[in-house]
Amino acid sequence: MNKADSERMAGILEGMGYKEATAELEADLILYNTCTIRDNAEQKVYSYLGRQVKRKQKSPHLKLIVAGCVAQQEGESLLRRVPEIDLVMGPQHANRLETLLTQVDNGQQVLATSEQHILEDLTTARRNSKTCAWVNVIYGCNERCTYCVVPSVRGKEQSRSPQAIHFEIENLASMGFKEITLLGQNIDAYGRDLPGITKEGRRQNTLTDLLYYIHDIEGIERIRFATSHPRYFTNRLIEACSELKKVCEHFHIPFQSGDNDILKAMSRGYTIERYKGIIDRIRKRIPNASISADVIVAFPGETHKQFQKTLSIIQEIGFDQVNTAAYSPRPNTPAATWPNQLPENTKIERLNELNLLVERTAKIKNQRYKELTEEVLAEGINPKDQTQLMGRTRTNRLTFFPSKGPEGYIYKPGDLVNIRIKEIRSFSLSGIPIR
Ligand code: SAH
Ligand code: SF4
Repeated sequence: MNKADSERMAGILEGMGYKEATAELEADLILYNTCTIRDNAEQKVYSYLGRQVKRKQKSPHLKLIVAGCVAQQEGESLLRRVPEIDLVMGPQHANRLETLLTQVDNGQQVLATSEQHILEDLTTARRNSKTCAWVNVIYGCNERCTYCVVPSVRGKEQSRSPQAIHFEIENLASMGFKEITLLGQNIDAYGRDLPGITKEGRRQNTLTDLLYYIHDIEGIERIRFATSHPRYFTNRLIEACSELKKVCEHFHIPFQSGDNDILKAMSRGYTIERYKGIIDRIRKRIPNASISADVIVAFPGETHKQFQKTLSIIQEIGFDQVNTAAYSPRPNTPAATWPNQLPENTKIERLNELNLLVERTAKIKNQRYKELTEEVLAEGINPKDQTQLMGRTRTNRLTFFPSKGPEGYIYKPGDLVNIRIKEIRSFSLSGIPIR
């Protein structure tokens, strides 16, 4: 989501006539879009800012902007700590960048962190890819997971209208994009704040309804969505995914912990049994689906036994990929104030053990691709080997292959290519194009 925000802001700057600089230390407008999900992400921005402040002291015309979640969280104190900053803007203000910059041009130092109704995006994002694009469908989050800073920095849920989303995707298709990923912190909440009830008394404008509504946009070949929340995940959604051929067979559903007491302390609102039930139902209906998740280890009070339960779930489910993190106390979150914090070395040990297991499980899981033919959407050139393209399978597995196909055909980004898988690694595959 942070990347999607960056692309939108870059699009606004381009629309205003700005051009991309060749290097960070040569730009005369520097915008850092920041993340505060864990402390190490937050600390990065201060070291980046330090370098720019030195430049600005010599060249006062430089414009220095801090956007995103650190900006929202720190607000005025960021201006006090680094007075050289011209503009501090929270994530809800991303679409207002042009207006805010006009105020800076008028000589003001601007702080934009108030709660905002997010303006419908009329600008064109500068996409980092020509093939795959992010599409925000719901901003903010109304959950209250006790470890998480997101609700306090990204604010209340705000769904975009299905029509606005449809329009954006049509536009992307006309520019040649082939794949879109619908984004929401808790994407299953999509539409909760929109009006509409069906004749049968069911809420309209759910994520499932949205998938049906956008499915037939010509030119778009693949549709993905993230992130799913186990508390709200529905059977209707699984049904839609199996019915709609453009919706890829990949589900990103964080489980966070394998222990029910920890899940309760996290206020996640589901049990691990419910989680396993969801995965079972997905696999029954879509047997080749890939499953990925997020996990936190060393949450306050987590015992060795509870940690072991998380490891067991990784093995039992056999994830294709897991994003792992050691618990990091965040400002304005309940868990950060609890006395039962675990020591740093426990965090590191558990994270290392988990990472090893995730890698091993992913490699075993990947064996199923050996000698299979998978459809890969070429996204770009392999930076480590210019003769190869890279892309992803429908199940979201990164795959490398020679750009030269049978009969000398040269594949290019944007092509859908059938690849016979030859090499298996933990987090990527290699293969050869076949006709
Ligand atoms: N909305 C999504 C993702 C939120 S942030 C969800 O509900 O799953 C992405 C991931 O960062 C989370 O899934 C969680 O695993 C991790 N994370 C969030 N807060 C954290 C914290 N305080 N410490 C460590 N990891 C955290
Ligand atoms: Fe954070 Fe929970 Fe919301 Fe995800 S659902 S963004 S973890 S509060």
